[in-house]
Amino acid sequence: MNNLSYLAKIAKVEDNKITLELKDELNIERLRTIFEGHQGERQAELFIKDPRGFTIEQRRFTFALMQDIYKHTGQPLDSLKDIFYWQFRALTGKDISLSNGSTSTVDDVSTLDELILDFIFEWHIPFKTGYEISPQNVQYYFYKCVMTRTCCICGKPNADIDHFNKALGRRNRKTVDHAEYDFAALCRTHHTQKHQMGITNFKNKYKVIGVKLNKDDIKKLHIGG
Ligand SMILES: [Zn+2]
Ligand SMILES: [Zn+2]
Repeated sequence: MNNLSYLAKIAKVEDNKITLELKDELNIERLRTIFEGHQGERQAELFIKDPRGFTIEQRRFTFALMQDIYKHTGQPLDSLKDIFYWQFRALTGKDISLSNGSTSTVDDVSTLDELILDFIFEWHIPFKTGYEISPQNVQYYFYKCVMTRTCCICGKPNADIDHFNKALGRRNRKTVDHAEYDFAALCRTHHTQKHQMGITNFKNKYKVIGVKLNKDDIKKLHIGG
């Protein structure tokens, strides 16, 4: 990776313009090298840290996930907590706690929940229908369902990958650019139901969202035929 990454303080916000104060010195030489001969736009990506404390919904969601792992594996909650908290520390270098008075943030717990979701999908832990997925993890949840072909409604494996909001129609699936579409993983039953009910009614009933996939994901899933 040739990208440069800096920590910065947001100094000013004006409409679409943000002024940042870098905590470290900018490596001008490096910038010259990477943009040498580059004709296009010089782009940067902005990631804004969320300093808020985690929400009660997040705590509830985290324990609901661990509860399902416990039911399926018999591994006690305390030891599951140890495992996932340890994984979080290995990944971020920070400690995490969901007890009252903890200083863990919304982002911390959302990262923890991604680790737990990874485990759930990897080991095909059956999940109860109607999780109240924390808003911070919704995108990730539906993405994992697609990538592991798990029905996002009932958790059945070997789900179909449906072109969700915009149907493929009669277009040739070999030549079409699938990156323009969004997708959802649906088992046969729920897939059939979607096409019978129509997208609007289906979304109202199940709160499913479609997720975008990049070229590698599309190849991995053999969507292009
Ligand atoms: Zn299903
Ligand atoms: Zn379909």
